[in-house]
Amino acid sequence: MDAKAVLKGAITDAQERYKALNPLSDEAEENALTYLPGGNTRSVLHFEPFPLTMVKGEGAEAIDLDGHRYVDFVSEYSAGLFGHSDPRIMAAIDEALETGIAMGAPTPYERILAAILCKRFPALDQVRFCNSGTEANLMALTTARAVTGRNKLLAFRDSYHGSVIKFPGGSCELNVPFDFALSDFNDTEGTEARIRELGDDLAAVIVEPILGAGGNIQGNRDFLKMLRERTEEVGALLIFDEVKTGRMGATGVQGMLDFKPDLMTLGKFIAGGLPTGAFGGRADLMARFDPRHGRGWNHAGTFNNNVCSMAAGCVAMGEIFTPDVGDEFLKWGEDFRESLNRMFRERDVPMYANGMGSMIAIHFAKEPTKAPKEITAGCQSLRPLLHMEMLLEGVLICKRGDFFLSLPMNDSHLDKARGALGVFIDKHQLLIENVLAV
Ligand code: PMP
Repeated sequence: MDAKAVLKGAITDAQERYKALNPLSDEAEENALTYLPGGNTRSVLHFEPFPLTMVKGEGAEAIDLDGHRYVDFVSEYSAGLFGHSDPRIMAAIDEALETGIAMGAPTPYERILAAILCKRFPALDQVRFCNSGTEANLMALTTARAVTGRNKLLAFRDSYHGSVIKFPGGSCELNVPFDFALSDFNDTEGTEARIRELGDDLAAVIVEPILGAGGNIQGNRDFLKMLRERTEEVGALLIFDEVKTGRMGATGVQGMLDFKPDLMTLGKFIAGGLPTGAFGGRADLMARFDPRHGRGWNHAGTFNNNVCSMAAGCVAMGEIFTPDVGDEFLKWGEDFRESLNRMFRERDVPMYANGMGSMIAIHFAKEPTKAPKEITAGCQSLRPLLHMEMLLEGVLICKRGDFFLSLPMNDSHLDKARGALGVFIDKHQLLIENVLAV
């Protein structure tokens, strides 16, 4: 039998075992089909044969409807940095609720959180809040268009900047109808030529300094620096999307570089796991939002400063994920990532933990992946098997092979993940090699 057929059989076998263990989640999905297309309101959470329905989260662990307990490396796709139940965040939410739910006025919380973020991220002179990372990027892009009076935007293939700004393999049906040109992530020469070609039509380049959904691929410094220099040359803005990577160390990735983007966006973790987004940057650009003289751009949003998110954010970013904790957490994550790569090397299995710190993606390849086009069809086809087998070992990971570490995790959680990967390799090493050889 050829490797592809064996892989298919292995995936079916794992799915059968999963189904047998999760009858209540199976039934819950079935019942949800009537009112939610595919039983689902968030496409990324769907996988075959059906996703687990979660009923409780405690620290870094989650419990499903059938009563199984997992170590949660999905970590809400990185928004769950603080885990499920940090008492300090819960207390901040309770306190905010006691003051009133929907205030329709400025509150102390967003002012405190704005100061925390601006003192922390070098590119943020001033900031505004919104409801999601998608919205933050829409605001940054529309700001760039309005500031420059230009329409063209440059993004990267396989990047993800939100539900209507995503480019897996190219543009998507549901994208906003902005005038996007696409280039290849980490292709310094090609992108440089593209920026020069777009010249004074170009309003902005938007980039994630580590390409997250595209495989947790680190942007190399020369590439990012070139983006800074060439955007300056053609009078376009550089936008860093740090919705995910803002959790890297004390200052996000941009704080590790010797230059700043004009605008940056944040989201996910900065409100302790509650809905939010933020965009900000150079004071002269953000000043355009100043409403005091009646000429400011009208940036609206009923829930921009909702008290729960803002209050949770103050505690999360001000008291829990302090700059020192950010640095330590990055190191802890890097040590874990290196331990995985050591294990893969020692076992001589073609797997690699890409990414940085607490943002890791397992690729089926011996070497680090430096660009999305290096991801092979074989690698993609092995991911559902890895995903299923990890779930069966009690380790929740994203279906595309991402692991996100969270602050309440301890070494025993990491040991559990390493152990589960070991079991996966014991079982499937030959199959992995054969699939990649096709
Ligand atoms: N940018 C990046 C880099 C993201 O990973 C995401 C979410 N996965 C977003 C933007 C969009 O954030 P949200 O889901 O809060 O709209």
